[in-house]
Amino acid sequence: MTIDYSQRVSSISGLLAARELDAIILAGPENLRYVCGFTGTSGVLVMTRGTTRFLTDARYATQAHAEVAAERIDVYQQQVEGVIAELAALGARRIGFEAALAYAQVEAFRDKAPKTWQWVALQEDLQTLRLHKTGDEISAIEAATQLNAEAFADIRPLIRPGVSERTLALELEFALKRRGAEEKSFAFIVASGERGALPHGVASERLLRSGELVTIDFGCRFNGYHSDETVTLAIGRPPQRLREVFELVLAAHDQAIAAVAPGVPLAELDGIARAMIAQAGYGEFFGHGLGHGVGLEVHEAPVVSPRSRLVAEEGMVFTVEPGIYLPEIGGVRIEDMVLVTAAGHRVLTSLSKAYQDVSSC
Ligand code: ZN
Ligand code: ZN
Repeated sequence: MTIDYSQRVSSISGLLAARELDAIILAGPENLRYVCGFTGTSGVLVMTRGTTRFLTDARYATQAHAEVAAERIDVYQQQVEGVIAELAALGARRIGFEAALAYAQVEAFRDKAPKTWQWVALQEDLQTLRLHKTGDEISAIEAATQLNAEAFADIRPLIRPGVSERTLALELEFALKRRGAEEKSFAFIVASGERGALPHGVASERLLRSGELVTIDFGCRFNGYHSDETVTLAIGRPPQRLREVFELVLAAHDQAIAAVAPGVPLAELDGIARAMIAQAGYGEFFGHGLGHGVGLEVHEAPVVSPRSRLVAEEGMVFTVEPGIYLPEIGGVRIEDMVLVTAAGHRVLTSLSKAYQDVSSC
């Protein structure tokens, strides 16, 4: 894909004036990839009103010259000293940095730079940077969701009583990578039976049994972009209460997705699902936000929760993933990724979320 990095650079340059900064340094791998194309793990982009310079260590020099869109590429021996020398040469005294930068790294910059320099953490200003996905980005995300669908079809016959959660997670990861995924998005959640009550129940040695539900939350990375999707399946006939909980979560998921359109407050989307679950008496068992943005990071802006202040805008991609978790009994989560379009929305993940008994097919 051909990416217009100059446009991405200029969207950050606006921050220089808005926050009265002489320079902005970016070091987070996702932001580096987004703003200048670097896919390595160690480097710093220095941006001023007049120039962008990329600094990295010798290991990445060749790669940086091949990938990076910047006016100059320099190699440093020591990152902190190298970046400070560059900033000094550019006359920068007030420098913005990603608030997500490790505390120790920020302290190292403060320590080694002249004491008169000011360091400004950029948090909300930068969170909007990758908020609106372009066509190329959406294509990469869709390739990742397509891999999800194909890999899940590969392993679905394995979802049977007697198989361990861990085996399913490993087979799913292998199927994704065999089909071309770069990496898994996170440690997969495979939570069966009473473990379904753990929203983050990473796959264990537990064996699946007949008469229970299993929740599988997984995803992969393709061309730098992630997928994230959750299915909850029945193995035989689970207790009636869990069946009812499943239908409730599915209805909350469907209703929230149906409401996605430009201009709708994200907190309102969360509220649609939350109100349905609360009215049925399960409010206290839905303890997390409705969703999160997905892109170069599997969890990124925007957050979709009662505290969200943003409204849905064309190009945003986020998950809708309500869940109900009943301690010692089990749980249900259903998750899809949704793109906000001019006309409303498009669901990017394609696996069926309807109630399915895997032992009957
Ligand atoms: Zn997920
Ligand atoms: Zn998610």
